[in-house]
Amino acid sequence: MGDFTLELNDDQKSVRDWIHGFAADVMRPAAAEWDEREETPWPVIQEAAKIGLYSLDFYAQQFFDPTGLGIPMAMEELFWGDAGIGLSIVGTGLAAVGVLANGTEEQIGTWVPQMYGDVNDVKVAAFCSSEPDAGSDVSAMRTRAVYDEAKDEWVLNGTKTWATNGGIAAVHVVVAVVDPELGSKGHASFIVPPNTPGLSQGQKFKKHGIRASHTAEVVLEDCRIPGECLLGGKEKLDERLARARERAKTGGERVKNAAMATFEASRPAVGAQAVGIARAAYEVALDYAKTRVQFGRPIIDNQGIAFQLADMRTQIDAARLLVWRASWMAAAGRPFTSAEGSMSKLYAGETAKTVTAQAMQILGGNGYTREYPVERMHRDAAIYTIFEGTSEIQRLVIARTLSGLPIR
Ligand SMILES: Cc1cc2nc3c(=O)[nH]c(=O)nc-3n(C[C@H](O)[C@H](O)[C@H](O)COP(=O)(O)OP(=O)(O)OC[C@H]3O[C@@H](n4cnc5c(N)ncnc54)[C@H](O)[C@@H]3O)c2cc1C
Repeated sequence: MGDFTLELNDDQKSVRDWIHGFAADVMRPAAAEWDEREETPWPVIQEAAKIGLYSLDFYAQQFFDPTGLGIPMAMEELFWGDAGIGLSIVGTGLAAVGVLANGTEEQIGTWVPQMYGDVNDVKVAAFCSSEPDAGSDVSAMRTRAVYDEAKDEWVLNGTKTWATNGGIAAVHVVVAVVDPELGSKGHASFIVPPNTPGLSQGQKFKKHGIRASHTAEVVLEDCRIPGECLLGGKEKLDERLARARERAKTGGERVKNAAMATFEASRPAVGAQAVGIARAAYEVALDYAKTRVQFGRPIIDNQGIAFQLADMRTQIDAARLLVWRASWMAAAGRPFTSAEGSMSKLYAGETAKTVTAQAMQILGGNGYTREYPVERMHRDAAIYTIFEGTSEIQRLVIARTLSGLPIR
């Protein structure tokens, strides 16, 4: 019989156990403190850098795992440790993927290492797409990039919002409009190098959850960057715009834009983060239910509690299977013909939200306090139905893909 398996191989298992050790020994003990402080946990990122967990090498190794399971496995373990700190560690990866997806080899080689810095001077990176009036509707983006041919420079103007690591990043990847007539087909991605004048941090948001992860506005005011900071290069952009204009004229086949394709491919990784949070909360609830005695017996002796735990575990395993399927498909180069990436993010995000709420309920009054971690996990989980495409947008993508209709 063939070689189908859902078992991790020995290498994957040892990487998983190594990340798990870091999550248990370094992240968990620090989680409550950084949640309260609402600051980037630089010392923890540095610890991760010291052991090679916060590095381009590690990320690339997992990214290119031929089974596709390297990234979801790493995400699940890190977010099992703590979601706020986890996002501070992997947030740079989103910006790195933006460069890997659209950049030339030279751009990848120049900028991605600068996103991570080095062990003695760690850096983070930010991916800036969302704007105050362009959240789910990316085509409403207004940040403009205008080419100054005389100086071979691009000039960026606009306000980005919700940027993870925005303003504190060494390297910002900014998506901007180069041709307003073309909607989202007229967008391009740019590198804003460290210390570029004209880029500043706006408001830093105080959040419900993932509070160790920095989220802020990024303001671009006549921010001039070298021509070579256009990801993919000018020639490729001009070709792509010419094709899009031609298509707009002739009403040719609708082609998915590059940013959307990148999001679809990164969704299983985000789903895996949600699985990690859900699993963490489930484990706390299971332990608690086995030891908390009321009416002379552990509360798990009640079917009302035991069945909740059975459902929680079933949903977590189902979510992981959807995440692994999509991750495997992406690695095998199979297109998401049924929006499998969106399915995995939708289901895992919703699972994290319901499972963490159930965990709080199972812990009773303790669940509602900051003495126990499930309250934080519930706050953290809530972002998973909002960012990287809300649950409604995932359903829209799935429904459009299945029906072939432009459902609104
Ligand atoms: C903590 C955090 C970190 C983030 N990090 C980043 C980042 O690093 N980089 C970045 O670029 N962005 C980031 N985001 C932005 C995030 O992706 C957006 O918040 C998200 O896409 C939703 O956009 P919005 O907030 O404008 O909501 P809106 O788009 O205004 O949506 C509001 C509500 O309307 C619903 N809705 C909208 N359109 C439809 C529709 N057609 N059908 C049905 N329902 C609809 C939505 O589902 C939602 O419930 C982050 C956000 C947060 C909160």
